[in-house]
Amino acid sequence: MLLFDCGEGTQRQFLYARAGINRKMRIFISHLHGDHVFGLPGMIHSLSFMGRTRELEIIGPKGIAKLVTSVNNIVKLYSHFPIRIYEAKPGFKIRDPEYTVKVAAAKHGIPCLAYAFEEKPRPGRFDPAKARRLGVPEGPLWKKLQSGRSIKLGRRRLAPRLVVGPPRRGVKITYAVDTRPCPQVIKLARGSDLLIHDSCFDQSASTRAREYGHSTAAEAARVAKKSRSRKLALFHISAMYEDANPLLRQAKAIFTDTILPQDMVTVSVVA
Ligand SMILES: [Zn+2]
Ligand SMILES: [Zn+2]
Repeated sequence: MLLFDCGEGTQRQFLYARAGINRKMRIFISHLHGDHVFGLPGMIHSLSFMGRTRELEIIGPKGIAKLVTSVNNIVKLYSHFPIRIYEAKPGFKIRDPEYTVKVAAAKHGIPCLAYAFEEKPRPGRFDPAKARRLGVPEGPLWKKLQSGRSIKLGRRRLAPRLVVGPPRRGVKITYAVDTRPCPQVIKLARGSDLLIHDSCFDQSASTRAREYGHSTAAEAARVAKKSRSRKLALFHISAMYEDANPLLRQAKAIFTDTILPQDMVTVSVVA
């Protein structure tokens, strides 16, 4: 489970989402503005009370370790699980057996990181009909072939390619808030299946977007287009918009496959 940023409301939404408290988990923090980190102490505290025992990894910009340790020294988070904190720099890459997360510099008033999650290529699709035709009995041998290993069947040796298709590309999701449109993010986001991009303002507030280090929905759409992303999610919409649909319209005029996700929405992403 990967959580990107941890604002005030996160632990409450996390409970609603029934996301599971003891899963392998990493929290990525973009930058040290309150709306992105104020939920972190509460999250650690709650996870602990709900019985988490598994290590938690937190990745963020310089200063994230000091933030967590200072809070812990004063209020005691009573975490019953180990917390590992990594301070990442642009160019940093988090490697996991199943995926990598690349880090780039966003363009905001203070140091801010954008992240790209890239799933490793997945094994090709297994064809049960073909396996049956070759006389492979269902069970452990199927599993072995699925995982890319050859099997022995009587005197025959069967290669996985006989029943498994070519490897499938993994999913790529880029998360870039808070940020102005910038070349580093475009490069990081290249070929994303989903780009989650800062869209704080609408077109009429473009000066404000520039001043505060944010983007308009139209600017986010241009980043999606330039990075050849497949889908754009407008994100970090300013609270001054009661109705954010004009932002969606402005983005869609430039990049058709744009969505405006509401709280608790599930978005399926396929490569
Ligand atoms: Zn910020
Ligand atoms: Zn923010």
